[in-house]
Amino acid sequence: MIGLVIVSHSAQLAEGVRELVEQVVQGGAAIAVAGGTDIPDAPIGTDPAKVAAAIESLLIRPEVSDVLVLMDLGSAIMSAEAAFDLLPEAMRSRVHLCEAPLVEGALAAAVRAKIGGSLAEVYAEARDALAPKIEQLASWQHLLPAAVPLAEAAPEQADRESVELTIVVPNQLGLHARPAARLVTLVAQYDARVTLTHDGRTVPATSLNRLVTLGVRQHDVLVVRASGPDASAVIEAIEALALDNFGDPIEVTEPTEIIAAAVSEEGDVVVGAPASEGVAVGPAFHLRAPAIELEEGVVADTAAERQRLREAVAAVMEQLRTLRAETTRRVGAAEAGIFDAQMLMIGDRDLLDAAEEAIELRRLDAASAWNLALRAVVARYRALDDPYLARRAEDVLDAGQRVLRHLAGVPADALLFDPPEPAILVATDLRPSDVARLPAGRVLGIITAEGGVTGHGAILARSLGIPAVTGVGAAALTIADGQIVGLDGGAGHVWLAPDAQTIEQLRQRRERWLTERSESRKRAQAPARLRSGETIEVAANINLPGELETALLNGAEGVGLFRTEFLYFEREAPPSEEEQLEIYRDAARRLDGRPLVIRTLDVGGDKPLPYLRQPHEPNPFLGQRGLRYCLDHPGLFRPQMRAILRAAADYPVRVMFPMVSRWEELVMVDALIDEICAELQAEGLPFDEDLQRGVMIETPSAVLIADHLARLVDFFSIGTNDLAQYIMAADRDNAAVASLVSAYQPAVLRAIRETVEAGRAAGIKVSLCGEMAGDPKATALLIGLGIDALSMSPAAIPLVKERIRRLDMAEAKRIAALTLEMSSAEEIEAYLSDVEQTELAAKRMESEP
Ligand code: PEP
Ligand code: MG
Repeated sequence: MIGLVIVSHSAQLAEGVRELVEQVVQGGAAIAVAGGTDIPDAPIGTDPAKVAAAIESLLIRPEVSDVLVLMDLGSAIMSAEAAFDLLPEAMRSRVHLCEAPLVEGALAAAVRAKIGGSLAEVYAEARDALAPKIEQLASWQHLLPAAVPLAEAAPEQADRESVELTIVVPNQLGLHARPAARLVTLVAQYDARVTLTHDGRTVPATSLNRLVTLGVRQHDVLVVRASGPDASAVIEAIEALALDNFGDPIEVTEPTEIIAAAVSEEGDVVVGAPASEGVAVGPAFHLRAPAIELEEGVVADTAAERQRLREAVAAVMEQLRTLRAETTRRVGAAEAGIFDAQMLMIGDRDLLDAAEEAIELRRLDAASAWNLALRAVVARYRALDDPYLARRAEDVLDAGQRVLRHLAGVPADALLFDPPEPAILVATDLRPSDVARLPAGRVLGIITAEGGVTGHGAILARSLGIPAVTGVGAAALTIADGQIVGLDGGAGHVWLAPDAQTIEQLRQRRERWLTERSESRKRAQAPARLRSGETIEVAANINLPGELETALLNGAEGVGLFRTEFLYFEREAPPSEEEQLEIYRDAARRLDGRPLVIRTLDVGGDKPLPYLRQPHEPNPFLGQRGLRYCLDHPGLFRPQMRAILRAAADYPVRVMFPMVSRWEELVMVDALIDEICAELQAEGLPFDEDLQRGVMIETPSAVLIADHLARLVDFFSIGTNDLAQYIMAADRDNAAVASLVSAYQPAVLRAIRETVEAGRAAGIKVSLCGEMAGDPKATALLIGLGIDALSMSPAAIPLVKERIRRLDMAEAKRIAALTLEMSSAEEIEAYLSDVEQTELAAKRMESEP
């Protein structure tokens, strides 16, 4: 028989429902109740442990096959969900949460259960329990006061006036987090009440968590209903979004997951994505967030506690926004989409309401209340049939735990990796900041469950030279701390349980790899001299000082671009002058006489800084970005300029300004530097009065007035990433126009040529530090165009240096001249690839005996 559990905020109400039901069915129903809490000061509320106990009390009865849980509202739903998590695994499949109205549903279900109804029958009976009431009261609707808006007075009637749309969901992976996030974001722009119905369950379209946990799969039918002033408009927009596959590509809907889905096992080997080459073998160790101790306590000032929670959620939203911007910039908009989804997940009104209700009714502290609400949502995700959607539970949990960390005062980016001996790091996924903070020398390799080769951590793992395999799927998470595992980052292979012979083979391969790498790095220490004798300076782009070591090992002849904005991210306030001075001096010291080009803060655009409270800009890439922002905010800019000027007193430090589009901007910088120099002089602090200055050429305007700019600076550095976006009028973070934002576009190449000519005429050095600099396919072209120095991701240095050494200036010029005659990026890239392949073939032939 089917048992019933009644969950209510009030112990009396729960008992009352039981009494009523037993009275009607006259014995023979299996009912248990979980009402109220056991907290004397706060008896109204619900308690997952009580709910779990009530469920268990029924399930241990031999005649009870399944249990239907009915609950009143708000946190009762959460507690029922959280109770699910507390039950023994074996019981969970016999527990079913039912959205039926509590009193009517319990009565109807009990009657059906008593006569031996199946689970489906009892469930359906409970769910339809309101129908007789609706029918009976229909004749009273004409008496509703005319002034009462229909939607509020009688939802059923309002729904009758609603606009409806039926969608057959086209997305390959169903309505997963990203398409659902797009839908929620779209709906929020309209003045309409929108609900979605799937398989008999209806949820508001404003709640991402409820929407995703509907478990909508490809080809499922979804009914959208909208009412309110914008009903028709929102339906039209939703239809257009659905026709556009909810914004997902048709074939590949989720890059990381597709990679995870492609994981296969070949014998003892699990195959993931080859994220960073190299071989490693050794004990595994998981990267963990520090555990947060929750001490449930009764609070007196519930309003203050609710405020604390709201502030914590708001702070985490900012963290996620920053991470999104950082990831978009470093990896791509598609990869960054997950942060949008996480923002909607934790910004979900439903979740916050549930937590606030727990604060108010149960007098829980903010962290315990949030934890309770979060666990309920996570349980809802985990209970989904679809393994793909069920994994989104980790995304909610991850974002939700940030709120707990914030409330506990634990730094946002605190992650622990502290193995007793050097180990292979295992994680779900890696953020750039995780990799950058890894203890040097203690990480033999990296294995992640999620992420692709362009994943967040993969790029940094490569630049740090740590072998890594990403997107290994759930297999990664089954690895225990201390278990010996092996990996080949070049092939994307992971050995979960290598036998003694395999371990030995992997050890030998690692030795060979280390020797080969150290030889290639040794070769990279020598200057990059062309066959015709000219030398090209090859430097590194770094985002955090932690990347310096690999840069030097890889043969960097200095740092050509230090993106200082990374020093400003993930904190509550900008770094002080002294803090910056220390960082710049330390970096310069480690460079041991090699030049360090510090780029001043380049925020705005895709890199907002939460604490700067920059006003919203409709087109941030065309707004207050880089030097424009700094000049308008001397309070932020001065400490950085002072720190740079002071660091340059003892080391070959240079400064470089981003996003310059006018000559006057450099004039203003000069005036500011003069002022600061006078200040430093008066304070008796040493500084470099001849600080070398450079300008990034990354706007079309800067190219066109390069001759004027050249008079004010000592060098140019071409930022092809931005230059391509501004010349091509195509957002560098918009995947839809990705092919336009290519440095190989003929217009961009002409801009490079113009810049080089202006630099030459003025007798100043012209460097290039966009991603293009690290692409060996571009090397001949750039040298042929007359570039003096290249600055790139540290990992690219050995290869680019080898490419330079095989070149001859006359040949490079010929390649550049030919390229400049071509009319499309496609043709140019194909030609340069051919040149590179021919070169590689020649090299192979030379090295063969
Ligand atoms: C560029 O725009 O090419 C550049 C190097 O700067 P960033 O990528 O940091 O904008
Ligand atoms: Mg730039």
